[in-house]
This record gives sequence, structure tokens and C-alpha cells, in this order.
Amino acid sequence: MTDPGAASPTTRDACAALDQHDPLAAWRSRFVLPENQLYFAGNSLGPPLKAVEQRLRATLKDEWARDLVSAWNRHAWIDLPRRLGERLAPLLGAAADEVIVADSTTINLFKALGAASALRPRGGRLLVERDAFQTDLYAAQSLAELSSDLELVPVALDPEGRGDGGLDSLHRALDNGGPVVGLLAQHVHYGTGRRLDLAAVTQRVQAVGGLAIWDLSHSVGAMPIDLRGADVDFAVGCTYKYLAGGPGSPAFLFAARRHHQTMRTPLRGWLGHARPFAFESAFEPAPGVGRFVCGTPPILSMVALETALDLFAEIDLAEVRRKSLRLGDLFFERARERLGAFGVTIASPDRPERRGSQVCLRFADGYPVVQALAERGVQGDFRAPDILRFGLSPLFLRQVDVWDAVEQLVDLLATGVWRAERFARRAAVT
Ligand SMILES: *Cc1c(COP(=O)(O)O)cnc(C)c1O
Repeated sequence: MTDPGAASPTTRDACAALDQHDPLAAWRSRFVLPENQLYFAGNSLGPPLKAVEQRLRATLKDEWARDLVSAWNRHAWIDLPRRLGERLAPLLGAAADEVIVADSTTINLFKALGAASALRPRGGRLLVERDAFQTDLYAAQSLAELSSDLELVPVALDPEGRGDGGLDSLHRALDNGGPVVGLLAQHVHYGTGRRLDLAAVTQRVQAVGGLAIWDLSHSVGAMPIDLRGADVDFAVGCTYKYLAGGPGSPAFLFAARRHHQTMRTPLRGWLGHARPFAFESAFEPAPGVGRFVCGTPPILSMVALETALDLFAEIDLAEVRRKSLRLGDLFFERARERLGAFGVTIASPDRPERRGSQVCLRFADGYPVVQALAERGVQGDFRAPDILRFGLSPLFLRQVDVWDAVEQLVDLLATGVWRAERFARRAAVT
């Protein structure tokens, strides 16, 4: 694959030629992909890896059914939160003992924010990205309601990625008031795909004594991340998006080693105890990130995730990022050329350093258009009020897929097919 910045192909044949030389091409056959569907929702729910089915069957039959309760020891199920943390660490640029896998992203956010605020004097301000995914805001609000002296301050961080990556507004918010607990921000914005500079933002927050808490849900597995290099304090993220851990697979929590001795978890559970099977009524935290495990881990989800992470260990994330940018370049160019006439605009930044691994289009009647596209075999998703979101998963998407998706969209808009009544009915999950 040629370097990002090279001109995108201008014919479908040229796309196919580029796909033939794609160093990641072989990965596609490792996924179970629906026939006749172009899947642009891998950033919402990654498709299963073929190896996962086998592993799940074996876990059911050879571990759960056969060994029952003794399987916790015999198959080291009890160690899965730590073991998965170790597997995930290289993808995050973290040390093996800085990551744990447990619970959902929302719950881990609450734990990380609670731990961060307990590390700073009371009465501080917690800056929260104003346009964050709502669950991030809710988790912060929950904490603030429980600790009446924690003040939440919303801060706009260049949500559309057309400015300076939020540094200026961050600077103003940090300067403007009392002591700072820290900042909670998304590395890649779930809606627009805007990407922030992890190191620069972290440094700005730490310069006033604050802690940097990041949500990596839309970047993990899609690009290299260097949490240690960026000196991040806490981070959380999903494993069912680019990492393809499966629906509801548990999330991760990263805590920098320098906080391990002093950090406290706001949500204590028996499996976060130093000795869970001593059944002691007083809580003594397990060493390091182990204290962030609350209750019994979801083993079936975890073995699926473990299988996926075994495969990710073979992948060069720099190559994944290069391909993601190339797919994005093509999408942007085709969208500009073919969709402008229909009133469709581009809502994602196109500067490579500000871009995640998705392309978002804006169209007032986005919902029925996404439904109509799905009926034609192009699965994207819709984010209210007007965003058509296309996740670019470089491990299974090809240049021709991007080409075809845009052409399908052009056809829908040109014929007005999307106006049919059946596309307007909203499902529970969009
Ligand atoms: C997907 C996503 C989540 C998901 O949270 P869950 O608790 O796992 O449902 C959280 N934050 C962001 C930014 C996301 O994109």
C-alpha cells in the first residue's frame, strides 16, 4: 500500500489494483463477514473472528460443562481480567501491569474518575469534554452528585477537528478558576471522528497539576497508541469495536504505574480485594490495577476477547493506521466529488493527524438514508441529529468497498428511494 498523502484511485479498477497490494489483505478471510454486505459499522460492533467460534465452543464443552466450578482454577478463569490486561497493554503502549479488563466502559469511567478525583485535593474542578459521548458525561455527573465539592466544567475540544485540537479552549478553561482535578476527553470523537493529540493535551492538563483521563473507545485497535509516551494518567475504552471482542465484551481500564500505591477505587468489590477468598469484611485493595475488578468476570465474553487479542498481537498497528487513512482519503474524495450536489456535507476532519478511523457525513434526513443504505447492503450507522457514520475497519474493508458504498449512496439520493416510508421507522438501536 502506498503512503497516505498519495493520490486516491479515481476508478473502481484502480481501487481493486490497490487492494491486491494491500499488506493487510489476508486478514479479511479471518473474519466471519455477511455475504453481500459492506460492513461500515465495525466501530460500533466488530464482526467475529473465525477463531472465536471454535474457542467459545471449546470453553462451553471442555471447560464449563466438564469442569464446572473447578474450571475457575483449572482453566485460570479467575486470572482473565489481568491476563487480558497484559494482552491489551502493547496495543495501548502500556506496561503489562497497568491495564485490567473488567466491566463496561461506563463503569470503568466512573472508577477512573473517582480514583483521579481522590488523588487530588477536594474542591477541584473536573473538566469534561463538552461533546463527549453521553455515557462519559453521565459517569462524570454521577460522581459529581456523590461528591458535592467536585465541580464539573464542560469544555469544547474542537469537536469537528477543524481548529487547533482543543488546546486553546483547554488553556482558557484551565486558567480560569480554581484547582483542577483533571480532564476527561475522548481520544477520537465518537460522532465526528475527530482525533486529539494525546500527548499535547495530557501535558497541558498536567502542567496545572491535573490528571489526564482518556476514553480510547474509538481509537484502540485502529491506530497505534502510546499511553506511556504521552504520560497519560488513566484511560478506559471498549473492546467490542475495532478489537472485535464481541457484543458487550468487557472494557479496559489503564492506570499509570505512578498512581498504583495511592489510588483508590470508588467502587469496591470482592474480586478487587487483595485476598478475595479470605472473605474479610474490611476491604484491602489488590495490588495495582487489580483493585478495579469489582465482581465475577464474564468468562464467555472474555475468552472471545482473548482469542481476538491473540490475533491482534500479530498485527502491525502502524500498517492498520496507514490503511485507515488511505480508506479515509478515498472516502473523502469520492464524497466531495459525488455527494455535494445532494446537500451532503462532510462532518469529519480530513487532516490526517486530526482524524480517527471513520468518516461522517451530515445530511438532514440521515436516519432513513442509513436504513435505505443498509437494505442495499451497506451497513453504516446513524448518530442523531444528522450524522451518517461509516467506520473504517482496515482489517476487512477494501478500497473497492469504499468506492461501492459511495456509489450506492449516490444512487439512493439520486432516485429518492430513501424517502419510502419503511425507512423512517426508528429501531431501538440506531
Ligand atoms: C462505545 C463507547 C462507550 C461504550 O460504553 P459502554 O459502557 O461499554 O456501553 C463509551 N464511551 C465512548 C466514547 C464510546 O464510544
